[in-house]
Amino acid sequence: MKTDSKILILGSGGLLGSAIHRQLLKKGYTNILTPRSKELNLLEKDQIENYLKIEKPEFVFMIAGLVGGIQGNNKRPADFLYQNSIMILNVIEAIKNNCPKAKLLYPGSTCIYPKENPQPINEDRFMAGKLEETNKGYAVAKGVGVTACQLYKKQYGIDAISVMPTNLYGFNDNYDIENGHMLPGLIKKILLAKNNGDRQITLWGTGTPRREALYSEDCADAIIYLMNNYSSDQMINIGTGFDYSIKEIAEIIKTEVGWSGEIKWDLSKPDGTFEKRTDIQRLKKIYPEFNPITLKEGVNKIINDKEQLKRILS
Ligand code: GDP
Repeated sequence: MKTDSKILILGSGGLLGSAIHRQLLKKGYTNILTPRSKELNLLEKDQIENYLKIEKPEFVFMIAGLVGGIQGNNKRPADFLYQNSIMILNVIEAIKNNCPKAKLLYPGSTCIYPKENPQPINEDRFMAGKLEETNKGYAVAKGVGVTACQLYKKQYGIDAISVMPTNLYGFNDNYDIENGHMLPGLIKKILLAKNNGDRQITLWGTGTPRREALYSEDCADAIIYLMNNYSSDQMINIGTGFDYSIKEIAEIIKTEVGWSGEIKWDLSKPDGTFEKRTDIQRLKKIYPEFNPITLKEGVNKIINDKEQLKRILS
């Protein structure tokens, strides 16, 4: 990408899309389109066809999607399947029809890997076994997107790449406690308890499953680097290669927030996949400088930002 290349970010309002936007601006890119879903509904094929016919971007970050945590996914599996499949298929077909020279970057998710894996999980585990039930709809839709990138490259020569980000957190996350992800959920519950003077919070499951925690801007940096330096049809993990138990994540957040109350575990809520630590050798080979910040540093960035705090506590 040149600094004046025409870049389109679909999904620029969310956690990862907004981080990509911020990091592109910091790196000096000046020609960035960030249509929001109200003006460009990706479920409507005509809308994305017309938009690309007019704008003809050179680079497309397809970050838009219906996203949610374990409970959001579990409650609306058909919506997650339908919306996420249709959106990427509409976008890639419209690229083929209107701007076939554009390069496309598409994030899948580590939930596309089977429920059980040797750890760490490398990219060859895609379609190697049964999926975890709690996020099956989302995982199958993401698998559709990853496969679409490979097949549109094969049949039409579209320069499409896909990346598999691990569990993310950062600015502009979805702080809906019921339907959001674990990391923003824990940050919100612990901050609220401190603010309200509560001595106890309830988290879900047993607290023993293990998850990585990647700061959204580190993921965005890797994504921008890959857009500039990677063109293979082989997907590529973006993780930290290091995981914590959910109990450990909660303790780190408690310490940084400065709240010392008690955690109750609601065993009626699912644990989901037990562990999904990413093998990041492929990424490190291409982008050796990749060196994400720690969870402790990331949590501090969020809780020391007035605007984010307001958003979390509102
Ligand atoms: P996943 O990584 O795709 O499974 O989705 P999440 O980011 O929602 O993480 C789910 C894991 O965190 C499960 O083991 C949950 O039981 C556990 N967890 C503990 N407390 C919470 C919470 O408050 N919200 C969410 N979303 N998950 C929680």
